[in-house]
Amino acid sequence: MVPSTETFFSNIDFYNLDMHLTDDQKAIRQRVRDYLEVDVMPHINPYWEKAEFPYDMAMKMKDLGIMGGLLGEHGAAGLDPVEFGLVAYELSKADGSIGTFYGVHSGLAMGSIGLLGDEEQKACWLPDMVTLDKIGAFGLTEPEVGSNAARVKTTARKDGDSYILNGAKRWIGNASMSNLLIIWARDEDSGQFGGYVIENASETEGVTLSDIWGKISKRAVLNVDIKLDNVRVPKANKLAYATSFKDAAKVLRNGRYSAGWTAAGTASGAFELALKYTKEREQFGKPIASYQLIQQKLVEMVTEITLMQTLNFQMARLLERDELSEGMVSMAKYNNARKARYVTRLARECLGGNGIVIDNHIARLMLDTEAVYTYEGTNEINLLLIGRELTGINALT
Ligand SMILES: Cc1cc2nc3c(=O)[nH]c(=O)nc-3n(C[C@H](O)[C@H](O)[C@H](O)COP(=O)(O)OP(=O)(O)OC[C@H]3O[C@@H](n4cnc5c(N)ncnc54)[C@H](O)[C@@H]3O)c2cc1C
Repeated sequence: MVPSTETFFSNIDFYNLDMHLTDDQKAIRQRVRDYLEVDVMPHINPYWEKAEFPYDMAMKMKDLGIMGGLLGEHGAAGLDPVEFGLVAYELSKADGSIGTFYGVHSGLAMGSIGLLGDEEQKACWLPDMVTLDKIGAFGLTEPEVGSNAARVKTTARKDGDSYILNGAKRWIGNASMSNLLIIWARDEDSGQFGGYVIENASETEGVTLSDIWGKISKRAVLNVDIKLDNVRVPKANKLAYATSFKDAAKVLRNGRYSAGWTAAGTASGAFELALKYTKEREQFGKPIASYQLIQQKLVEMVTEITLMQTLNFQMARLLERDELSEGMVSMAKYNNARKARYVTRLARECLGGNGIVIDNHIARLMLDTEAVYTYEGTNEINLLLIGRELTGINALT
């Protein structure tokens, strides 16, 4: 609970949830923490400010033994649900952009291939993704189709030994540097939903990739607008077991699970930095942490974080037992993303004017929560998924 002055983070665990962790779980977490303290925190701010992807910094993640998350084949990490959550939590404590690069590559892209590819596809692509020799991206959202993701307009048409893709995608993380870009589309003839893997998108005829500029959140990871104009993809690159939106939803569920941990991690990163600052910063002759109004903010923050952590650990136990419902995952994402917004703003307030600049990291974390609030199902969509499970009535449409 007492922050060290030598590291950025103090690792808040007010309810001693660590008592439930195994040595292996602690070891993975420690590897990620060491990477963040040494390779990320001292260097990330200029990348965020310039909206530049820290490529070399991100590539170091290949040595952490975390690629592929829950997947355990072809060299993937095979993390258990707690480890999977802790990795997302720790990465996001330090930086949302690095966390998103990992989430998209390791979770959404490797997850799609691992869960929905056949043996040949997995053997062909996963080993290079584990070593980050190939980078993955996941293209579902479109300019005109966001929350209503099952209704994608991008089409696939069979043509001999290929499929021809036409359409547009928006917000696709990692896409401009991707070697394996998964495009979700509907078969023009059958109407069937499917996942099509474009290899080396930037060199593929008919693919136009435009980075989205002017983001206020997760600025150090690039999101991309994609245009697909008669793009030819070999038949062998259609994910073998993706035949309906429900298949993609299996991948999205793990992404949403991870987003619940991400939100809690971002909040705890901001809190820990604020706690340290308020104990060191003096006004009116005393540390500002000694004033009741500052303590109220600190207590509010740590209480919300503790509730998020507790919810996450129970979510992990339910996933382990295969008893995690869609509504439960949505509840963690819904609650934690909303509360992370609140907590990071309180943390920023504790720094006064210094909270407005990114030097102290909190402003960056505060803005990163805006993306977490929006992706993996917006707050409203997750609310409505919980409502649907609770009442049996679908208010989404
Ligand atoms: C930083 C970032 C990274 C992303 N990365 C990826 C990626 O890698 N791959 C990918 O495929 N996508 C990605 N996305 C897209 C993300 O999943 C979408 O932004 C999200 O699904 C919302 O879609 P939309 O932005 O089109 O908003 P819209 O769906 O247009 O929603 C706009 C508003 O309307 C509300 N709304 C919509 N429908 C309803 C309803 N039925 N009832 C009540 N309210 C409703 C929403 O909650 C929201 O407040 C990313 C987005 C961001 C911001």
